[in-house]
Amino acid sequence: MKHIRNFCIIAHIDHGKSTLADRLLQTTGTISDRDMQAQALDDMDLERERGITIKSHAIQMNYKYEGQEYILNLIDTPGHVDFSYEVSRSIAACEGALLIVDASQGIEAQTISNLYLALEHDLEIIPILNKMDLPGAMPEEVSDQIVDLIGCRLDDIIPASGKTGLGVDRILEAVVNRIPPPKGDENAPLQAMIFDSVFNSFRGIIAYFRVKNGVIRKGQKVKFFNTGKEYNADEIGILKMDLFPKNEVRAGDVGYIISGIKQANEVKVGDTITSKENPCTEAIKGFEDVKPMVFAGIYPVDTEDYEELRYSMEKLQLNDSSLVFEPESSQALGFGFRCGFLGMLHMEIIQERLEREFNMTVITTVPNVSYHAFMKKDPDDLLIVNNPSELPDPAGMDRIEEPYINAQVITKAEYVGSIMTLCIEKRGELKNQVYLTQDRVELTFEMPLAEIVFDFYDRLKTVSRGYASFDYHPIGYKPSDLIKLDLLLNAEQVDALSALVHRSNAFDLGKKICLKLKELIPRQQFEIPIQAAIGAKVIARETIKALRKDVTAKCYGGDITRKRKLLEKQKEGKKRMRQVGRVEVPQEAFLAVLKLN
Ligand code: GDP
Ligand code: MG
Repeated sequence: MKHIRNFCIIAHIDHGKSTLADRLLQTTGTISDRDMQAQALDDMDLERERGITIKSHAIQMNYKYEGQEYILNLIDTPGHVDFSYEVSRSIAACEGALLIVDASQGIEAQTISNLYLALEHDLEIIPILNKMDLPGAMPEEVSDQIVDLIGCRLDDIIPASGKTGLGVDRILEAVVNRIPPPKGDENAPLQAMIFDSVFNSFRGIIAYFRVKNGVIRKGQKVKFFNTGKEYNADEIGILKMDLFPKNEVRAGDVGYIISGIKQANEVKVGDTITSKENPCTEAIKGFEDVKPMVFAGIYPVDTEDYEELRYSMEKLQLNDSSLVFEPESSQALGFGFRCGFLGMLHMEIIQERLEREFNMTVITTVPNVSYHAFMKKDPDDLLIVNNPSELPDPAGMDRIEEPYINAQVITKAEYVGSIMTLCIEKRGELKNQVYLTQDRVELTFEMPLAEIVFDFYDRLKTVSRGYASFDYHPIGYKPSDLIKLDLLLNAEQVDALSALVHRSNAFDLGKKICLKLKELIPRQQFEIPIQAAIGAKVIARETIKALRKDVTAKCYGGDITRKRKLLEKQKEGKKRMRQVGRVEVPQEAFLAVLKLN
């Protein structure tokens, strides 16, 4: 155990974690130069394209230092707030962290939130000033920020570049010298923490773990503490570029287990693996059942694809246990699923994977948070509302509560004014304002989570010209004056367009949504009125004028290929259209509420 080091890399998104991890793999010879492709650890296509790390991955490197062989287990973590629970579990599996800060950007919101997570777990922090090769690098200024933030000495900071390889040797030496070896007792009952799991279509579910105490052996009977399920450890091993089977994995080390697990949701990140014969008395602390934060309906564009969509979602859930869904039906859209996501990015990823990996064409409805409704007849009885169209009749309701968050925004001093204005418009309340340096300010707000689901991110970027970063944590539910805003197309209420909004915004929003729908819904053979209503009261109205001519009419007498092309084009455009009553509605219209500015 003396020669093992377990560490992770934490950083704000895009500060260069994955690139630097690649350099470490190359320098230690874990991956040959020939096999090197950019961001070796991001093995999902989508991750590579978007340049983001969605799932954490672990890899073992061998490193020789002053004649001694060391085992370095690197755990890559996703940087996005949607996946912060996974970050926290990865961190709990380590003794040290490389804190990467982009020298041209400086400290950002997730630098700080991930650092706090690492400090909570008493990790040794190795600060790294990355992207030193960039002409815009500001080493002195950013070093000062780092010193202020973590209270280290200036020469603890390692200047580096994932691009040129600068600093990589110093980083590896620091991992050996500064990060303590794991503690733990090989003779104690087995206690291993699951920090990740993946689904492999050949091998089934593979769970990754860090052994805290004891030894896990091939073939032994194991028990997952929190789910209570028992399995046979069919295969265990360590993680190189591929799975590397072993007969045992001992305290301090990181490994994987394959054990005939059928469903991804049987493997909970944070759960403890112990032995069936000689179980530990308590689980490793910090386990949480992750709850979805954002809900939306997903419907097939073609109603006949419902069963296929169910099959695809089940498959997808096999390797993403944080996706939850249940069947629902909508008057407007027919049969589909109400899905729960960790956040907006997670929702986009699921939609994209359904389309790419399963060839499904789907309509996603306006996302919403989960509301708590309390009825007059029993004000203590909580009713969970994950779909605005299921809100009970307001007359019978005592109150509605909505989830609130603590939001941290870090920005340049000159944008503080406009960011405050935005946050107040989003029903936020300023709680704290701290100058990190003369020019960098951290603002803390309390605000409703729903406001972030709407266009907060984009607006924040706009008002700060990109010089603001943002992170948030849920802080519980608070009562709110919310009402249901309904939309009618061609005099028919479209349940999939309903949203819960704050009373003070309702009129303004109603008007804007009608206008936006008018812009998004193509003209059809007849006139289509669009109305926004609260209960029976119409508060806004727009009209889409009828189309005058058939599109093919202008091809009359023209050559047939041109006509066919036009029809093809029309069909393409139809791909993401849904027939709602008599009206053809494009996907964008279902998300109109999100795109109002
Ligand atoms: P992550 O989100 O923290 O994993 O960041 P990535 O490793 O995906 O890098 C984000 C972007 O920064 C990519 O476009 C990289 O090519 C680029 N990048 C990463 N490290 C460096 C570096 O040291 N120098 C320069 N110039 N660019 C870098
Ligand atoms: Mg990455």
